[in-house]
Amino acid sequence: NARLRLIDLAKHYRAGELALVGVSLTIPAGQVLGLIGPSGSGKSTLIRCINRLVEPTAGQVLFNPGSGADLDLTRLGASGLRRARRRIGMIFQEYALVERLTVMENLLSGRLGYLPFWRSWLRRFPPADIALAYRLLDRVGLLEHANKRADALSGGQRQRVGIARALAQQPALLLVDEPTASLDPKTSRQIMRLIVEVCAEHQLAAIVNIHDVALARQFMMRIIGLNAGRIVYDGLPEGLTPEV
Ligand code: ADP
Ligand code: ADP
Repeated sequence: NARLRLIDLAKHYRAGELALVGVSLTIPAGQVLGLIGPSGSGKSTLIRCINRLVEPTAGQVLFNPGSGADLDLTRLGASGLRRARRRIGMIFQEYALVERLTVMENLLSGRLGYLPFWRSWLRRFPPADIALAYRLLDRVGLLEHANKRADALSGGQRQRVGIARALAQQPALLLVDEPTASLDPKTSRQIMRLIVEVCAEHQLAAIVNIHDVALARQFMMRIIGLNAGRIVYDGLPEGLTPEV
């Protein structure tokens, strides 16, 4: 029941520079994997090659959305990729919220994949989608903030919106890029705990790029260490040595 399999994934940004080299790994449904490594080791590149925000140079990205056969994301055309990306949630360091929209509007625009041009668009959503959005807001502890503008929220609240927005897509896989980089230590732990919990609740596979090794140790059941674009560690947090 592999949700995601990377086979010999490589990325060369330009001749001679290898950002990723021969990266192979398998992630089952429900597993949350923490990605660590020094700055420049290829963590962001790895995450972005999966949904092709960055085009991999070689290798395969096999994604199983849960029904049917594996899709090789590296071989999909534009429309196939768009369809596959609907099942892949992204959570970013900078939240990527639309400041002038409310929390609820941000949630639903993630589901749409484009921005609304009129204010009455919320009424056009299927009631089931709106009900799901309210359930998710409740889950991330933001129900009473549904109608606040995004720019009125704290950093931790904004990341909770980011998490709820990714979940509103009903993804099979979450890609999470430095979710706590802009947050204080206490809020960072709350956000990391929330990510791990919602993945367990929804049987989501996730790859989390964590800049903080202590956080990775505390919350991740599996850690991948990258160095110079190669996997140098794959295992339990207990086995990590200071060199990784
Ligand atoms: P971080 O790795 O902490 O996310 P960086 O400052 O390394 O931040 O990268 C910021 C942006 O610049 C990213 O979008 C990254 O892809 C891009 N970038 C990083 N290194 C290079 C480079 N050598 N040449 C061009 N763009 C780069
Ligand atoms: P990390 O996320 O671990 O900090 P990155 O994936 O951002 O690492 O970067 C890996 C390597 O690829 C670095 O050497 C970086 O300079 C290079 N790199 C990243 N983005 C770009 C880019 N857009 N163009 C050229 N080189 C890049």
